[in-house]
Amino acid sequence: MRSAAGHIPRKRFGQNFLIDDGIIASIISAVMPRRSDNLVEIGPGLGALTNPLLARLDRLQVVEIDRDLIARLHGLHPPERLVIHEGDVLEFDFAMLGDDLRVVGNLPYNISTPLLFRFAAFAGHIRDIHVMLQREVVERMVAAPGDSEFSRLSVMLQYRFDMEMLINVLAESFDPAPKVESAVVRLIPLNPPPHQARDETLFAEVVSRAFSQRRKTLRNTLKGLVSAEQLAALDINAGARAQELSVADFVRIADALAAPA
Ligand code: SAM
Repeated sequence: MRSAAGHIPRKRFGQNFLIDDGIIASIISAVMPRRSDNLVEIGPGLGALTNPLLARLDRLQVVEIDRDLIARLHGLHPPERLVIHEGDVLEFDFAMLGDDLRVVGNLPYNISTPLLFRFAAFAGHIRDIHVMLQREVVERMVAAPGDSEFSRLSVMLQYRFDMEMLINVLAESFDPAPKVESAVVRLIPLNPPPHQARDETLFAEVVSRAFSQRRKTLRNTLKGLVSAEQLAALDINAGARAQELSVADFVRIADALAAPA
């Protein structure tokens, strides 16, 4: 299928182009760009968000992997207004763009989880993030402890960000239409996190182990890492499942295991 702009959408790059002017306008007003903002768009594609963003900014930076789309963008905007970073956003060094960075994008859904983790790694440089994702992923991001969608992704992102689901988006708002529904979410980094883990690698390991078998209790999933007695001393029930714990609970477990500072 060829899009209206004559480009054949590439599935491997998650290319579902936004064609709904109402949704595009809602995203731009949620972002509320100011002329001098340091803003980067992930995956400009055919420019559905790029053009209205650029109309409100002095300068916009974009990261795009598809060479055909990059060639098209070069022809449309002068380099002093649109700075194009060619390559894979999963390898992109956001720190290079400086601080107080604003991130916007209708993201390729096939890389959404690693990309969200990459944003978390650069959270110290970021002011805010507005992105379109698969709705099911957004529901997991914002789920609360005890919700069925509460997962490793919820804990790891809630550790680093305040998040809010902003706009529901139907499949027909895109060309081609994806097989899933979508949603726009806002992430605001918590700098520093209110529950700062002493060792973040260990924190990530505890969370990953705890959610590795969702139906099992912490006594089982964390066996060999932390004992039921240690959990009890932290006021955490070893018979609970990962889904019932808060971010602060996971940080307490990781801190108890971390070497003394
Ligand atoms: N922003 C456009 C829109 O809303 O219509 C396009 C969105 S489309 C869902 C995702 C965009 O991300 C495409 O332009 C695609 O080429 C680009 N993309 C996919 N994988 C990428 C990657 N690993 N690094 C950078 N850009 C990528």
